[in-house]
Amino acid sequence: MKDCLFCKIANKEQDADIVAEGDDFIAFEDINPKAPVHVLIVPKKHVSSVNDVKEEDKELMGNLFLAAQKVAEKKGVKEQGYRLIVNTGKKAGQEVEHLHLHLISGKNLGF
Ligand code: AMP
Repeated sequence: MKDCLFCKIANKEQDADIVAEGDDFIAFEDINPKAPVHVLIVPKKHVSSVNDVKEEDKELMGNLFLAAQKVAEKKGVKEQGYRLIVNTGKKAGQEVEHLHLHLISGKNLGF
């Protein structure tokens, strides 16, 4: 989608520090990390938020979790643990209107 930052990163029109990539996703380092490991996992297809996921996106959504597994392994945190966060809507802190998983790890995330 035109003027979407994460579409631009997915299309390589905007630089990012890419961690992993597949046919339908791209994962890159968050530019403002909240923890020692903070990677964003983004579907290449533009889906604005969880509220916009369609029946036809079911496989794509599952693939994002498989991508998260790969990223966790690559970053060396698969066994120690990590948190996946999906902010949905402005009041939940969603700044970029292109659905993404935050994969966060490397500090004590226990409540
Ligand atoms: P959210 O607030 O859930 O929409 O998350 C958006 C995330 O994108 C934030 O954690 C930002 O730090 C991150 N971000 C914004 N611009 C970039 C960029 N150009 N490259 C990588 N991460 C970015």
